[in-house]
Amino acid sequence: MRILVTGGAGFIGSHLCDRLLADGHSVVALDNLLTGSVDNISHLAGRGDFSFIRHDVTEYIYVGGPLDFVFHLASPASPVDYMTYPIQTLKVGALGTHKTLGLAMEKKAGYLLASTSEVYGDPLVHPQPEEYWGNVNPVGPRGVYDEAKRFAEALAFAYRRFHGLRAGAARIFNTYGPRMRSNDGRVVPNFICQALSGEPLTVYGDGSQTRSFCYVSDTVDGLVRMMERDPGTPVNIGNPDEMTVREFAEFVIRLTGSRSEVAYRELPLDDPKVRRPDISLARRVLDWEPRVGLEAGLAKTVDFFREHRP
Ligand code: NAD
Ligand code: UDP
Repeated sequence: MRILVTGGAGFIGSHLCDRLLADGHSVVALDNLLTGSVDNISHLAGRGDFSFIRHDVTEYIYVGGPLDFVFHLASPASPVDYMTYPIQTLKVGALGTHKTLGLAMEKKAGYLLASTSEVYGDPLVHPQPEEYWGNVNPVGPRGVYDEAKRFAEALAFAYRRFHGLRAGAARIFNTYGPRMRSNDGRVVPNFICQALSGEPLTVYGDGSQTRSFCYVSDTVDGLVRMMERDPGTPVNIGNPDEMTVREFAEFVIRLTGSRSEVAYRELPLDDPKVRRPDISLARRVLDWEPRVGLEAGLAKTVDFFREHRP
């Protein structure tokens, strides 16, 4: 197949490009480099089955030739990034999703939106199944991301119902791995870089909030299975192995052999208190579950940051 990946120069997008090429597809990556980097795809330059278009998906998109599938991953994704680019985040979720859906229609291609566990907001149901509608503050600082993704899901499924487009949405939970930016502000790069340089690990709040971390190759495998199987409803893609942020800090200190201590900082507004995917649906309809444990995945990520931290 010939496949478009928006956000293809980003963290997950670049790994998705690698996987699709390894599976024998040809790939067009489209990205405006707002939070991504050509460094993530420079190893693909010069391949006949890969091309890169620098473009903003909120503007009219032209891609010559056929396309069989569109993955829409373009969007600022870390809380620091989407709070730095609030309007761009809303635009890429709304206008960018509209443009890419229109392109998929034009090309008679399938479509997958990279949605997020943030559609559940600060969840009142735990773990989160896909039937849960969420608890989002639309006007809070995180609302720009959460509501953009909720609107994007609504638009994708409207295209599915009204235009018969094979559109879907993967609700991706916290994903980590090589090619994350050391300064994207997320807990994984922050803690690893702090531990490697012997600085205190900055735990926000009392660290009792929970997250469940999924290694990037598992997330990418879930996205590919959604392309292949078209489940027709949003599906959670994440690792149900949950821990508190404090436990995670201790885990990173142990794994890196660091002498760093933990320092407590103010908890950002609306920071979700718990997060863990219910992946029963993914197991059933995609025959998917994560394979890479936290220790193995983090070891690879630590190796990456040993080379790439500032
Ligand atoms: P990332 O910032 O590394 O990648 C996003 C890419 O989109 C970047 O390369 C950026 O330059 C590009 N982009 C942003 N706005 C654009 C625009 N208007 N036009 C073209 N390109 C644009 O982030 P990531 O972690 O790889 O996330 C990828 C996708 O997965 C995002 O849609 C994100 O919301 C979703 N997601 C990620 C996670 C996670 O834990 N990493 C969790 C849930 C959802
Ligand atoms: N966090 C933290 N210290 C940091 C960065 C993040 O304690 O240096 C916390 C953050 O408050 C949240 C969790 O770690 O509770 C995960 O944050 P991240 O930014 O990775 O993504 P989120 O899951 O909030 O989207």
